[in-house]
Amino acid sequence: MANCPVCDAEVEIAPDTVVGELMTCEDCGCELEVLTLEPVKLGEAPEAEEDWGE
Ligand SMILES: [Zn+2]
Repeated sequence: MANCPVCDAEVEIAPDTVVGELMTCEDCGCELEVLTLEPVKLGEAPEAEEDWGE
């Protein structure tokens, strides 16, 4: 499990998830990208034109 950086909902992480994988938060519908594993850290997918920073 990880938390959505947008709405803080719990997002289920599959065991075979890899860094850079994209998933959608079922709660807010945002596209999320896996930034790191162990611990899993999610960021907003760089799809939008906004600066998603650090
Ligand atoms: Zn969310």
